Amino acid sequence: MSKTLGIYVHIPFCQSKCDYCSFYSLPGKEEQMDMYQTALITQIKGSAETLKQYKINTIYFGGGTPSFYGERRLRSILSIIKRYVSLSKTAEITVECNPDSVDIKSMSRLKRAGVNRISLGMQSANSSELSELNRPHDFNNVKEAVEIIRNAGIDNLSIDLMFGLPYQDMNSWNHSLSCALSLSPEHISAYGLKTEEGTPLFARASKIDYLPDEDLQADMYVQMVSTLTAAGYTQYEISNFAKTGKHSKHNLKYWAGHPYIGFGCSAHSDVHGFRYSYSPNLTSYIENINQGTEPLDTCEKISHQERAKEYLLLRMRTHHGIEEWEYRREFNMNFDPIEQKLELFEQHGWAIQTGNRWHFTVNGFLISNQLIGELLDSQGEAPEVSFEDHFRSACLTERKNLQKQATKDFTSKGTILIKKSITQTKPIIQKLKEEISKMLPSQKK
Ligand code: SF4
Repeated sequence: MSKTLGIYVHIPFCQSKCDYCSFYSLPGKEEQMDMYQTALITQIKGSAETLKQYKINTIYFGGGTPSFYGERRLRSILSIIKRYVSLSKTAEITVECNPDSVDIKSMSRLKRAGVNRISLGMQSANSSELSELNRPHDFNNVKEAVEIIRNAGIDNLSIDLMFGLPYQDMNSWNHSLSCALSLSPEHISAYGLKTEEGTPLFARASKIDYLPDEDLQADMYVQMVSTLTAAGYTQYEISNFAKTGKHSKHNLKYWAGHPYIGFGCSAHSDVHGFRYSYSPNLTSYIENINQGTEPLDTCEKISHQERAKEYLLLRMRTHHGIEEWEYRREFNMNFDPIEQKLELFEQHGWAIQTGNRWHFTVNGFLISNQLIGELLDSQGEAPEVSFEDHFRSACLTERKNLQKQATKDFTSKGTILIKKSITQTKPIIQKLKEEISKMLPSQKK
């Protein structure tokens, strides 16, 4: 079984509602948890045939606040999943927690049940910022929660931070960053605050000087990248940083366009070429499951063109970026207009080519929405190409790479290091052969 799949389980319950939150999460509603659990388990069992076709290598409990839902219910879901799927021995199993709902008994039991990664919502070390967001904890609670998580033997911890918060300045942001680093997490996610319409925060956002302006938010982002990089974290996505080997395997599936299946109300899936989501309404979700119907909210078959768009849209969020051969092979589309755009970005210091892969620089990440929009426009101008065109273009590209390399190797005395270029030619020719052989079967179809 070579195909892998990630499982996402949505837990829509929270202790209280944060003032910026637009996720589907319900404060309190503990009386509905048991009914939800029954529906969730029914749905997972009903998907056994799909699940059996894959090796499951990530499970992610998100929300909402799964730690508020209770470890007993989470363990029960895990044991059902394990009964119906082939779970990889090295599967990453993550539970999102908030500092106010972490205790040693729960964490130890979750660890014994196989949970090996905790994502903890810290957001800020500044109590006044946390209370502006209506978060029900302070930094002391975060420190205690981290101690408990470590004592339970969980050695993969991610901390969530936010910048651009009400009345936040650079000093307070630096303080939050250094407090987060003092906890030595293996992973840090840091997002700029978004004021979503309909949230209590949105109503306050128009107050003068309430939120840091765009320039200050950009400075905060740059500051964060330099602080975390200096502390030994690698930025592997616009908002995500990890110690070596500790990137989120589950979230990487989203950015790489790999399949995942979601369970629970408002959960999304991308599997068997379809993307679908479940009803973002607890009552209707439970009713549908009880009546034996799929609680579908949206469902669409993702076209080839749409996948090609997503390739640019999602992979350019990551430091791994995009690569010409990968693109040509997967989508049979011309990469030249995209590369021309990337070369232009490179001149502005927004993008860089490392080996054969293009990715954004820190300054590029800052304006990635705009840059990705331009890449998508250039993609729209590039029609699908024939195999012959691919072959011709492949030869031209490799010749161009060789020329680039030869120019780089030109010494101050004006001597081309011919030997070096000849040595480099061999693997390139080999790669060319491999790429062409990969293209051949798709021509026969
Ligand atoms: S804890 Fe998370 S999901 Fe719950 S209300 Fe706050 S931001 Fe939303």
